[in-house]
Amino acid sequence: MHKVFLKPGREKSLLRRHPWVFSGAIARTEGAVSAGDTVHIVAADGHFLGVAALNPNANISARVWDWNEGTQIGAAFFHRRLETAVGMRRSLFGREPDEAERLVHGESDGLPGLIVDRYADVVVLQISSAGCHRWRDAIIESLQQISAARAIYERSDADVLELEGLAPRTGLASGKLDTPVVEIRESGIRLRVDVAKGHKTGFYLDQRDNRLQVGQLAAGRHVLNCFSYTGGFALQALAHGAASVTSVESSADALQLARDHVQLNDLPADRCEWVDADVFQYLRKLRDQNRQFDLIILDPPKFAPTAATAERAARGYKDINLLGFKLLRPGGLLATFSCSGGVSADLFRKIVAGAALDAGADAQVIDQLHSTPDHPVSLAFPEGEYLKGLLCRVG
Ligand code: SAH
Repeated sequence: MHKVFLKPGREKSLLRRHPWVFSGAIARTEGAVSAGDTVHIVAADGHFLGVAALNPNANISARVWDWNEGTQIGAAFFHRRLETAVGMRRSLFGREPDEAERLVHGESDGLPGLIVDRYADVVVLQISSAGCHRWRDAIIESLQQISAARAIYERSDADVLELEGLAPRTGLASGKLDTPVVEIRESGIRLRVDVAKGHKTGFYLDQRDNRLQVGQLAAGRHVLNCFSYTGGFALQALAHGAASVTSVESSADALQLARDHVQLNDLPADRCEWVDADVFQYLRKLRDQNRQFDLIILDPPKFAPTAATAERAARGYKDINLLGFKLLRPGGLLATFSCSGGVSADLFRKIVAGAALDAGADAQVIDQLHSTPDHPVSLAFPEGEYLKGLLCRVG
């Protein structure tokens, strides 16, 4: 087995079982090894730290598969890891066949660079590491056996692929699919997910429980749903008796699907408005029109993928939250989210507090919101906790 020697003192994060080895921590690599090869990471004094996949082309130059020296990386290893991840969800959550769920959540499930989502009987995988890329065929074969899916679709087209030096790959990986649009049921609502063209693997599964919780608070309220995508929050709000729901989204395709969802679920179309606009501009327009709402949802895309971009992201969050607080009636609720890995929960709360202060609003945190539990967070990998939300009430 080829060895990768770390610089003195750079073994600390691995001893805490954090699975990433950055290029700057590596002293030398023994033998000619290429992206995706299995290596042993060893400390400067030569003692074993972990079995990893190497990627000399990336800043994250190795990702640890396992902490035991004897572990063999091969088809049987992936089969075991996938069985464990899927089995955990089956035993804890028992999602129905027509529902959707995350089956594999990357590093937090011991499979760095692998995301697997199930949309009813269609499984979508996203590979974003050289290690998983190398074992792609074995992963797909195991997923086929374990999930018994009608089809497995690949969406390895995330932005981070470029950082790994991998070419994007999308399309049917196994099975049959007449149309890429798959119907799922989420908390009683029927949704259509386009696994070929939708965002991420097709839908934002991390917000499932928050969509229900926030939707339940919408009864009788006038709701403003910002960054609506295909209407997830809006549909739950309508289903729970919202007086009106105004949704803002900049993707025309997503808005079309959202409109279709209202019909598909027999929800009152006269109570919803779909606005194709930039949220930053539209919030200003609403403020200038003196519009007021009882419940505002802010679920923006990732403003800061890394800590380095956190400052610019902070300005974006401050801006929309400030405007959000200004548009709320007394007693109104703000459900505000950040899915930026580079913005910690603590920083996000400070930004929201600053926004409330500048808006002259007295706000309380009623609840702290997280991703759905089928997106577990390994305690050794805090980066897994990217989604954080606050449910605030203004006095
Ligand atoms: N709330 C959604 C997920 C939102 S993801 C759900 O529960 O499914 C973020 C969405 O914001 C994406 O659909 C993206 O197209 C949209 N978006 C990104 N920037 C935007 C902007 N400046 N104005 C309006 N929409 C934007």
